[in-house]
Amino acid sequence: MAPRTLLQFFHWYYPADGSLWNEVAKASCDLAAMGVTDVWLPPAYKGASGQQSVGYDSYDLFDLGEFDQKGAIATRYGDRTGFEGATKALRDAGIGVILDVVFNHKIGADEIEPVRVRRTNPDDRNQIEDEAFEAHAWTRFTFPGRQGQYSEFVWDSRCFTGVDHVEQPDEDGVFRLVNEYGDGEWHDEVDGENGNYDYLMGADVEFRNQAVYEELKYWGRWIAEQVPCNGFRLDAAKHIPAWFFRDWVGHMRESVDSELFVVAEYWHPDMAALGQYLEQVDRQLMLFDVALHHRFHEASRAGGDFDLRTLFDNTLVAAMPDHAVTIVGNHDTQPLQALEAPVEDWFKPHAYALILMREQGTPCLFHPDLYGARYSDTGGDGEVHDIMIAPVDCLPRLVQARQRFAHGAQTDIFDDPHCLMVVRHGTHEQPGAILILTNRDSMEKTVELGSDHADAAFVDYLGHCDEERVADGEGRLTVRVAPGSVSLWVRSDVLA
Ligand code: CA
Repeated sequence: MAPRTLLQFFHWYYPADGSLWNEVAKASCDLAAMGVTDVWLPPAYKGASGQQSVGYDSYDLFDLGEFDQKGAIATRYGDRTGFEGATKALRDAGIGVILDVVFNHKIGADEIEPVRVRRTNPDDRNQIEDEAFEAHAWTRFTFPGRQGQYSEFVWDSRCFTGVDHVEQPDEDGVFRLVNEYGDGEWHDEVDGENGNYDYLMGADVEFRNQAVYEELKYWGRWIAEQVPCNGFRLDAAKHIPAWFFRDWVGHMRESVDSELFVVAEYWHPDMAALGQYLEQVDRQLMLFDVALHHRFHEASRAGGDFDLRTLFDNTLVAAMPDHAVTIVGNHDTQPLQALEAPVEDWFKPHAYALILMREQGTPCLFHPDLYGARYSDTGGDGEVHDIMIAPVDCLPRLVQARQRFAHGAQTDIFDDPHCLMVVRHGTHEQPGAILILTNRDSMEKTVELGSDHADAAFVDYLGHCDEERVADGEGRLTVRVAPGSVSLWVRSDVLA
């Protein structure tokens, strides 16, 4: 089976012109030829901000750009027909479809309703005032534009744990809705930041309500019947009780597809927290390797001062490789976003080469690194910035190289603070490769490949070094890397 390679086919500033689904369909054959095996699409359903919504302000999970709600029929990415076309094109090209879903909260309620709430200390959510008071909150979702099609479920205040805004009296903060679930407490099995990080935003979903729970399982089965679905990317997992996903993922694998690929966004660099979470979900899913992404960011900033031998220290891919989705960027860390931590251009080939050629981890490419991006927005300093992200020139070649050469046993040669080597030894049927990269000057390194490679000629598959290198009679090969660069040495006879 081809090694799995994901592509996140969107970014935060992808134009809100309804074109994305068509672009997915147009790109699908090229992506398959390159070696992309699965595409992660943005949330396909209607968000509270309608056609401006990137998709993380969930309004109606059943409106895939089909109903006149929140100011338009289509979403930012196109209408339901376009979404069906995009997913079908991917399936026809043999590419898996990974759907993004936000279960944690809903935003943009249709009606306000009377509620009883208790004030909560935003910095320590376990401090909930004893006294409840009467107010009104936007917690009733009736979806008037959809009129009960696909689901007649109406969400009301019993479907949520909390809100950040009440009226009559008007007040902002964090409010625990008084309901019959959880003895007045927030959910357990959530992240411990702020005491208890159940509440994130909007009307935060109450998973202990059995009707809600069943509705979300029904939605999972429903979406898999509407379009091709090979997996899910689960948003905001640290704000959702782990026991919910433990059950939900199991239910989806039983009722939809036992091979579903599921990756959760648990945005935490601490391995102990991630390890505990994986145990809580019975190790049924993958997590993004936030720590490795941060290491790439730091290495790119530090340039030649960074000790590359420490690059994988305290990362998920080092600790739990079978559960790590490795990334170089995403929509939350791109420039001008709140979690901004971009990897600088010069280091992106290094980072991608490592995640694509090593056996450990499941790599995920980021759309702008393949296609480039240009956008403007207000940054944290209040100023408007114009951002241009250049595509990584050698990225398509690296994705191809993963399919062609990332085979067989692996030897990491991490003995030099400024030069890493990864040797893939190949198998009887499939060739290997020698990856070498540096954050300083040009380097030459000798590696023992064994007598199978005696007198064999090698070239740099990435074309960053243009000479040919020939192994000696014992299969000893000396390879080169240019200053601050990456080379991937492969046998020239397999290219012929
Ligand atoms: Ca929550």
